[in-house]
Amino acid sequence: MSVADELLKANAEFVKNFNLGDLEVRPRRRLAVLACMDSRILFERCLGLHPGDAHMIRNAGGIATDDALRSLIVSHHLLDTQEFIIINHTDCGLLKVQEYALRAHLTTKMGAIASEPAHFYAFDDLEANVREQVHKVKSHPWIPKHIPVRGFIYDVRTGKLNEVKN
Ligand SMILES: [Zn+2]
Repeated sequence: MSVADELLKANAEFVKNFNLGDLEVRPRRRLAVLACMDSRILFERCLGLHPGDAHMIRNAGGIATDDALRSLIVSHHLLDTQEFIIINHTDCGLLKVQEYALRAHLTTKMGAIASEPAHFYAFDDLEANVREQVHKVKSHPWIPKHIPVRGFIYDVRTGKLNEVKN
């Protein structure tokens, strides 16, 4: 049985007591979270979020990529979120690689070059990386200046969220 089959079984249980069908499409807490995809972190659980509360945008690293910006812009302008938070974490996979080395490794391993993704956004300074993502979001011309954008680092050893001050 593949994992997908296991998930289908879990979903069959889930629908038995399903009661979320009437939730509003607009996040109740008017919040969007951009965070790393790390499997150890269930952000809804560690932030006390419930279905319908917030948009969760996740990618490798918690990076304000073109696509993450797209989601944040949709989140605010179409679905009325009014506050953004960005979360990176300790022991992130992208802290352990270098952009050029990763690209070279993949080219060798797969025997082919690729133009996409243009960047992996590997980084070596966690705090600086968070600040960079916050700046990138804040400075986007389609993100209004009144939207608070705060950056955090989640510690995978303690579960604690620490704010990165600008
Ligand atoms: Zn990560």
